[in-house]
Amino acid sequence: MEIVPVPAFSDNYIWLVHDQASGETALVDPGDAAPALAEAERRGWTIRQVWNTHWHPDHTGGNLRIKEATGARISGPASETIPGVDVPLGEGDEVRIGEHVGRVIAVPGHTLGHIALVFDAERVAFVGDTLFAMGCGRLFEGTPEQMYESLQRIVALPDETRLYCAHEYTLSNARFVAQAEPANSAIAERLKQVERLRAGGEITLPTTVGEERETNSFVRVSTWQQFAELRTAKDSFRS
Ligand SMILES: [Zn+2]
Repeated sequence: MEIVPVPAFSDNYIWLVHDQASGETALVDPGDAAPALAEAERRGWTIRQVWNTHWHPDHTGGNLRIKEATGARISGPASETIPGVDVPLGEGDEVRIGEHVGRVIAVPGHTLGHIALVFDAERVAFVGDTLFAMGCGRLFEGTPEQMYESLQRIVALPDETRLYCAHEYTLSNARFVAQAEPANSAIAERLKQVERLRAGGEITLPTTVGEERETNSFVRVSTWQQFAELRTAKDSFRS
């Protein structure tokens, strides 16, 4: 399974997923059709499926145009309004590309119906706007308790699991957690690395469960109340 980032808008990533064996291609969270279609065409890949993690327009805005252009089948959370949806997904459902199977887990908090797709055998998860490298999504619909539990589900995956997040927010997050945990040397080290990458305009994703357990304060706290305090502080943080 080959996974390619397609930058969109100012800081979104649409993930282009290709299975060499079957020749199938899927798109995760195409907020904008044009860059995703262009990248697939450049690689000679035909998009057969779209997988949405939640309803926000910067994740689903390209659905209809992609469906029109390619006939792709659209899957997304059953409890949310997803443009052009064919396959409603909920906890315990599966998505497939070739022989690869992704398990759907419910991760409410950023939105109430937010889902993540976990490919256990490949050690890959698409986490949308739930977990970001060294951070997490804002709580637009859910409670801090829900979001804390959702994040804990994600970091309960094996350490080497690669997490594909939907935004390039790592630098701002790194600066925030460096203040939240000034004595954490793994955070200090990663901040330097992220500064170098971003200075060169490079992507900082995917991250891994192991890295997040070491450097993401939002998953390192022990209670949802501590998580809530941290999330409130980040909401007003200007890096
Ligand atoms: Zn969102």
